[in-house]
Amino acid sequence: MMLGIEVARLLDWLPGELWRPQAVDLADLQGDLPGEVVWLAAGHPILVLVGAASGEAVVAVPKITWHGPYTPVLGVVSEKRHQLGEDLAVWLATEILAARAAREATFTTCVRCEQRLGPESMQDDGLCQSCATQDGVVF
Ligand SMILES: [Zn+2]
Repeated sequence: MMLGIEVARLLDWLPGELWRPQAVDLADLQGDLPGEVVWLAAGHPILVLVGAASGEAVVAVPKITWHGPYTPVLGVVSEKRHQLGEDLAVWLATEILAARAAREATFTTCVRCEQRLGPESMQDDGLCQSCATQDGVVF
């Protein structure tokens, strides 16, 4: 990679006791993420973004908005950066949990299927998009 940091190394940074990040196809998302960072998204729905910039690791709280009805846009609510160094693993473990908690705090529970989902998946009436679709709502 242009920054000299491989995605595989990002994976190595993530503590084993945390959930394994899934390969999220970021190509499907029109990113408005800050540039110059190689990002890895973890969770489905996405809970946390971990990135590598020049000499730094980045942990970010994701947000997903819609560009029109069908195109999700992945963005960042807030991010923290830390110099690469010996205490990186501890810093990552702490910040990943904090970012995950911040993201999960935005989730609400669908009044019908009781799934907890991000605000990008919810309607104003408290239904998730998949339950709303069953009612004939067309997106
Ligand atoms: Zn639902």
